[in-house]
Amino acid sequence: MKDRYGRKIEYMRVSITDRCNLRCKYCMPDGCDKVSHNDILSYEDMERICTAASRIGITKFKVTGGEPLVRVGCPDFVKRLKDIPGTEQVTLTTNGVELERYMDDLVAAGLDAVNISLDTMDPDRFRYITGGGSLERTMSGIDAAVKSGIRTKINCLIQKDFNEDETDRFAELAFGKGIDVRFIEMMPIGAGNPDLGVANRQILMKLRTRWPELEPDESVHGNGPAVYFRHPEKSGSIGFISAMHGVFCSSCNRIRLTSQGLIKPCLCYEDSVDLKPVLSGTIEEIQEKLTEAVLMKPGQHCFNNAPKRSERRMMSQIGG
Ligand code: SAM
Ligand code: SF4
Repeated sequence: MKDRYGRKIEYMRVSITDRCNLRCKYCMPDGCDKVSHNDILSYEDMERICTAASRIGITKFKVTGGEPLVRVGCPDFVKRLKDIPGTEQVTLTTNGVELERYMDDLVAAGLDAVNISLDTMDPDRFRYITGGGSLERTMSGIDAAVKSGIRTKINCLIQKDFNEDETDRFAELAFGKGIDVRFIEMMPIGAGNPDLGVANRQILMKLRTRWPELEPDESVHGNGPAVYFRHPEKSGSIGFISAMHGVFCSSCNRIRLTSQGLIKPCLCYEDSVDLKPVLSGTIEEIQEKLTEAVLMKPGQHCFNNAPKRSERRMMSQIGG
């Protein structure tokens, strides 16, 4: 369906857990308040919500979290989403720690693509930024994804005085493995502080000093707001998601389901529609609530206007 601004809403991010096996400084610095298992939706309820969502025109689902692979049964849930009539695509966002272990199951479940978050390829920096994680595990996850043949993208958040010097290395990773590497600007969500982030235009400028041939890549890479560049003689692309320095809201196509049953129309505002009260009702009742959420979508985010920002929760609680 279309929202009040004529945008076609066809994509839903589904957070299946708030929990995570890492503690990224900008996302979940001390671990979020643990949500009780009783407050987290069952897979059955999520499947009903996604079925209702497909009836209002959602055809693409992204399974996310927290870390989706820490919840038992994630590959089975992917299969359930794939089996909903009308589903065109199911993808997953993960930190990669458990990916090698689950890759075969995810492929068997019909997963269409995987996004893996990786901010640094230096083991000490990785341990620092993730609050103790092992780079080796995530790299093995990336290798397993590439080997499986599934479409693989890397999401990388660059911060001043931390990993700014690694942007060339990330481009080499894209070219070397023939995959997409996307630079995401830090947003003022949770512990995220955009002042610590780096503008994507600066990253592109720096990459072009080494690879002046980088040219806009107009081919469709996914469902999101990334803008891509490619090198004519290399495979793989470099994407930029410029949440702070490029407003992409006119092409926004998404809503978010939190693991506790809230539909969030926009990342920037706390406004949401609670589906819990209608979960024991009919699919049509859920559909009505989803429609309400789509019609609540604001025209634009307000990340650059601090007093107007109302979202105070962590990214892991919203379903980043
Ligand atoms: N655990 C999974 C992962 O790390 O990919 C999925 C959830 S995580 C919240 C999804 C993405 O959100 C990650 O790529 C992470 O870097 C990004 N993220 C978290 N907090 C952010 C912030 N304040 N600004 C921009 N991106 C953020
Ligand atoms: Fe966990 Fe992903 Fe947040 Fe890192 S970004 S703490 S991996 S949910």
